[in-house]
Amino acid sequence: MNDVTMDMSDFHWAMQIMDNMDSGLVVIDLDFNVVAWNTFMQSYSGIRADKIMGKNLFEVCPDLPVEWLIAKLNTCGKLSTKGFSCWEDRPYVFKFKNYSPVTHGMDTMYQNMVITPLKSLTAQVTHFSIILQDVTDIAQNKLELNASNRKLSQLSQTDGLTQLLNRSSWEAQLKNHFHYCGLHKRTDTLVMIDIDHFKQVNDNFGHPAGDEVIRQLAKMVSKTARDSDYVGRYGGEEFAVLLPNTSADQAMFFADRLRKRVEKLQVTHESQSLSFTISLGVSEFSQQFTSHVNWIEAADKALYLSKQNGRNQATVGQ
Ligand code: GH3
Ligand code: MG
Ligand code: MG
Repeated sequence: MNDVTMDMSDFHWAMQIMDNMDSGLVVIDLDFNVVAWNTFMQSYSGIRADKIMGKNLFEVCPDLPVEWLIAKLNTCGKLSTKGFSCWEDRPYVFKFKNYSPVTHGMDTMYQNMVITPLKSLTAQVTHFSIILQDVTDIAQNKLELNASNRKLSQLSQTDGLTQLLNRSSWEAQLKNHFHYCGLHKRTDTLVMIDIDHFKQVNDNFGHPAGDEVIRQLAKMVSKTARDSDYVGRYGGEEFAVLLPNTSADQAMFFADRLRKRVEKLQVTHESQSLSFTISLGVSEFSQQFTSHVNWIEAADKALYLSKQNGRNQATVGQ
């Protein structure tokens, strides 16, 4: 290429590179009229080059995010710097269908975009090139990874048998609420629940029937609690419920309602029907507790009294 002009053969191979790029290339002037539209753009938009050349990009492609793209182009022009768009902020600029069999299941092509201001020989910005990169495969991998991380994180917090919070995630909630109550002088109440004579259920009806009892109790506790309460499986046949913003007196209504509902519950397993009862210990937050462990101990003590006094009852800890 000499200093000023490009001869025809140079132009010819430049055109071939542009048309064989595995990315979209659009060149527009400062009025947004299209001066280049490569094969990639033709294939995915369905708009032939001769239908768009010389025309205003936004008139031919009304689906574009007009205001956002114009603002971006203006900034690139004024500052004479490149502009970028990443699929994580904006999945696509041009809405193209995704046809790739590799990224099966993704309907739309995810895109990264680079805008480059193009300067004339006198260093004036006269045009912009817009390069679109198809990043659907990267987006799919990342989105799938995020989804499986979310699933793993949910699984790691959930008890497999009952789908309630498992002990460690429930205890983490209790710890947070313990600190909150201490700082904000709020009263939350803790209720511990243990099935009465559960060993006999296993001995008389078998372990799978025992599991069904645990599942049914979990459902009943969740149904009786409010959405804002935290229900967890604390141990084998022990459950724990944290009732935020609730006094021990109010929690006793919950405990007794639950106890009566459980008393009436008939669990059927392999054509055997059985019933069971629960004992409960209720403990209101106290400023005397030095850690959330004291709170659990207080509720456990109350639960022990319920057992000692004949089971199938709830006791408030002192
Ligand atoms: P109490 O009224 O004093 O609570 O008597 P209990 O028989 O319920 O005594 P305890 O609470 O000590 O018994 C717990 C039993 O629960 C022992 C264990 O075999 C059983 N268990 C613990 N986890 C599971 C489980 O996931 N499935 C089943 N089927 N049984 C379990
Ligand atoms: Mg127990
Ligand atoms: Mg028990």
